[in-house]
Amino acid sequence: MSKLYIVPTPIGNLDDITLRAVKVLGMVDIILAEDTRNTSFLLSKLGIDKKPISHHMHNEHKTVAGWAARIAAGESLALVSDAGTPAISDPGFLLVRECLRNGVEVECLPGPTAFVPALVNSGLPCDRFVFEGFLPPKKGRQTKFKELAIEERTIVLYESPHKLIKTLGEMVEYFGADRQACVSRELTKMFEENRRGTVAELFTHYTSHPPKGEIVIVIEGAKELKTKREKRKEQDDEED
Ligand code: SAM
Repeated sequence: MSKLYIVPTPIGNLDDITLRAVKVLGMVDIILAEDTRNTSFLLSKLGIDKKPISHHMHNEHKTVAGWAARIAAGESLALVSDAGTPAISDPGFLLVRECLRNGVEVECLPGPTAFVPALVNSGLPCDRFVFEGFLPPKKGRQTKFKELAIEERTIVLYESPHKLIKTLGEMVEYFGADRQACVSRELTKMFEENRRGTVAELFTHYTSHPPKGEIVIVIEGAKELKTKREKRKEQDDEED
């Protein structure tokens, strides 16, 4: 039966493509891609002789209805993004919603995404977490920081290298200097780095070592910090 396949692709290491992703990409009638050049490169590495069609944030509003209609009429379609799982801080949601509204089956394959390895590598609690994607660049940014300052779950953010230092500085201001965090850079790539410390320590480090590459920031929730501060106070009181 025809359906929409959401196909995750590697976030750096090409070996991270799944066997099923290769099978689905080889089998579908149409491949929609955020960047056709990147995807053509991946397809040629996988030995798949298909030409992807461009599908990105600037054209998806106009085209989703047409793609859903084609799947409903019998064609099978795979959506891939530049890296990771489509619809996670990438185009995909609009097409999924349009398909579901039209009774078209949707299947998202499990596979690479940047926030999961970053969260697990951080060593911070991952039983409950909140994924915020990219923070608002200007409007609503301060409000978001105030909201996140009292968020009790572990917080996961995507960030670009040229904004990392500014964001860490704002974290010191809004969350307090002693909040633990982890900056994951270039996950799955040759120069992968997972740097853990307080937000103040990370701010100092990256101020003197300007970062390059792709970045996920994982920050300890307010509850962890509250518990730690309470424990420290109890210990201090016992010692007095
Ligand atoms: N759809 C992707 C996913 O599933 O993770 C996310 C796409 S979003 C446009 C790109 C952002 O993801 C980057 O700016 C960075 O924050 C994060 N990212 C992607 N690849 C990464 C990597 N190898 N290491 C660290 N962060 C990465």
